[in-house]
Amino acid sequence: AGSFLSVRDLHVRFSTEDGIVKAVNNLSFDVERGKTLGIVGESGSGKSVTNLAILGLHNPRSTEITGEITLDGQELTGASEKTMESLRGNKMAMIFQDPLTALSPYYTIGRQIGEPFRKHTGASKREARERAIEMLEKVGIPHPKTRVDDYPHQFSGGMRQRAMIAMALVCDPDLLIADEPTTALDVTVQAQILDLLKDLQQEFGSAIIFITHDLGVIANMADDIMVMYGGRAVERGTTGEVLRAPQHPYTWGLLSSMPRLGGDVSQKLRPIEGTPPSLLNPPSGCPFHPRCEFKDKVPGGVSCTGDRPLLPEGRGAACHLTPEQKRTYFIEQIKPR
Ligand code: SF4
Ligand code: MG
Repeated sequence: AGSFLSVRDLHVRFSTEDGIVKAVNNLSFDVERGKTLGIVGESGSGKSVTNLAILGLHNPRSTEITGEITLDGQELTGASEKTMESLRGNKMAMIFQDPLTALSPYYTIGRQIGEPFRKHTGASKREARERAIEMLEKVGIPHPKTRVDDYPHQFSGGMRQRAMIAMALVCDPDLLIADEPTTALDVTVQAQILDLLKDLQQEFGSAIIFITHDLGVIANMADDIMVMYGGRAVERGTTGEVLRAPQHPYTWGLLSSMPRLGGDVSQKLRPIEGTPPSLLNPPSGCPFHPRCEFKDKVPGGVSCTGDRPLLPEGRGAACHLTPEQKRTYFIEQIKPR
């Protein structure tokens, strides 16, 4: 209790023709104001679904959600659609990977940035336009007074991303959820957008959840990291802890696909073979066991295929290996061969 965003024992299930998809299981985490939590995992790990559940953007007819989500003391899991609508774009906002899913081609950039501001503050059209210009300036669009009347197709990809950030921040949200917001951009623009987000966070004091499949992207961005696999959190800690001394074999694999971060270390780690687990028929025991090269190495009769490892509160990993093994196997992985 007491944390700004609190998620407790969240389960998200979808009904499909083939059965029940267990998309998110037993998930708990917190995010404080002014802090950034990076949620890392492959597609299908549950990271995007978790955030759609927070925003109340899941399909209520095919989705079952249990557990507790509270934002600033307000319970969201049982909230009405009307309540959720008053919070979305206002108290919490989202930045998507593809600005064209958020921006309509038919309206000017200025109108689209001003729209949530009008809706949630009751501002006039003229005030909303002024606010849109102010926001375009904040996100670094040159000549905002003229660009405000442009349509999305008149903006470059990087500028559209900035416009979407302006739209997300126009009501000064307390919680900002960014789902792979820079994946489609080239590395230089990506770095600029990340810097921009950090600056805006300083100014607005928002809590940020940053979702990505790429640990490198959030290395300089997140205060804390939660790694998800197969609909479960498998490791968490501060960014420094997770990057310097990762404890879960899956995280070791993720680090290997991170060329930007310390080339020395990552080049020697092996990428993970195999495919993500089925969420219709998840593996027994540890969800990672079908891909884990350490699964037979756990001492003391503990079974990776039979016993589900639990994620401790605070720093730790959901893995049966002993602390000593976690250290030595990781070091072995990064030793020159
Ligand atoms: Fe690998 Fe076993 Fe640890 Fe799972 S619990 S990550 S299978 S060693
Ligand atoms: Mg996704």
